[in-house]
Amino acid sequence: MSDSKQTVIILGAGQAGGQCAASLRRNGFGGRILLAGEERHPPYQRPPLSKAYLSGEIDESRLWLQPPETWAEQSVELRLSSRASAIDRANRIVRFEDGREEAFTHLVIATGSRVRTLPVPGADLEGVRYLRSIADVDALKSDFAPGRRIAIIGGGYIGLEAASVALKLGAKPVVIEAMDRLLARVAVPQMSEFYRQAHEARGVPIRLDSQVAALKAESGLFSEGKTVTGIELTSGETIACDSALVGIGVIPNQELAAECGLETGNGISVDEACRTSDPDIYAIGDCAEQHNWLTDKRLRLESVPNALDQAKRAAAAICGTAQPKPEVPWFWSDQFDLKLQTAGLIGAHDTTIIRTGEAETPRSFFHLADGVLIAADCINDPPSFMAAKMMIQKRAKPDPVALADSAVAMKDVMKAALAGA
Ligand code: FAD
Repeated sequence: MSDSKQTVIILGAGQAGGQCAASLRRNGFGGRILLAGEERHPPYQRPPLSKAYLSGEIDESRLWLQPPETWAEQSVELRLSSRASAIDRANRIVRFEDGREEAFTHLVIATGSRVRTLPVPGADLEGVRYLRSIADVDALKSDFAPGRRIAIIGGGYIGLEAASVALKLGAKPVVIEAMDRLLARVAVPQMSEFYRQAHEARGVPIRLDSQVAALKAESGLFSEGKTVTGIELTSGETIACDSALVGIGVIPNQELAAECGLETGNGISVDEACRTSDPDIYAIGDCAEQHNWLTDKRLRLESVPNALDQAKRAAAAICGTAQPKPEVPWFWSDQFDLKLQTAGLIGAHDTTIIRTGEAETPRSFFHLADGVLIAADCINDPPSFMAAKMMIQKRAKPDPVALADSAVAMKDVMKAALAGA
């Protein structure tokens, strides 16, 4: 079929969906593209939501993936405030909540993920916030004001970034974490400890091993319309607050796929080209689970580089163009003056080597498995990040002594390792 007779529907106008539409046109796709998203905003970047947008340094327009008028110029039909409710695979139709139906030849599911809500009494009190969308940040900005006490539940990247912004704006954050260390799901213990010390040194109290039992309002009753005033821990202690921000992870939006019989696990199962178990239906971004070449495991990654990579893969498959080369997964986080860049994925490592000088930073954590570099966390250390990314890609075995020695330039460590790779 000539592509002018084809229709690609992309469900979810976020980071992955927006990129997929742009990549389809870049690859020469001449058919119809319908990009439908439930939010009222054009496709935007989420990382600044817990950074520069929350702190007020940038306004909404700096979040757009591209100027809103560009979608029409690229003949992409952008349909906002439009939530898909069902996929009818037999008839190749998507149904929307407003009753509309649209036919497709190819469908791309890019529905992202949603926040995990706090399963305790009082979680529905006023002043209990989450941080996923522009609307969420707009609702919580007034909490980030001088003197206001913000209880941040969850010591992951989003909670820690929010804590650093809160402090900068003069608010009084406290981070409450159920595990015995910060970033437990994504970082090695040495890095968790680095961030604990960094936050405490700058004035953010960190409460580890602190399980939330309930959120309380003034009277102690959890009735509608009351505002949260305290976080009750399972130890019986209550931490007073004026608002609470919950950052305890996300859940993939995979129900549309599961309900129409597509294979799902921890995300919608896709192959290397992001095809689901139906060859005309793709899934990309936070909602997709794919085999990862580096770890040899099926994974669901929650990062912008992954969303962009998968969007390009789906677009290439639809257009019949070459698949992009496999990339080393990477990620970043900004807290205070600390810029973290992470390459690769921990898990299979047996050794962690720390490279640092006298000062707090630059500091990097290198993770090796049988001598092969598989991941690196680099704080205020772009040269180490760049070199590590390259070495991970080549499965190089850097000299551990040189890696640990900040007097040896990283480019020399890399050169020697790549010569031996
Ligand atoms: P999204 O960007 O979430 O887009 C999915 C869209 O689909 C949403 O707009 C959603 O409303 C819509 N949708 C869902 N269901 C339907 C439906 N049924 N019908 C229509 N539309 C639907 N990553 C990094 O790499 N670095 C960072 O520093 C970083 N910081 C972050 C900070 C915050 C606060 C957040 C929330 C995320 C951050 N991330 C970061 C993660 C990154 O933003 C996500 O991995 C990325 O946005 C995933 O893109 P996506 O398109 O899969 O999902």
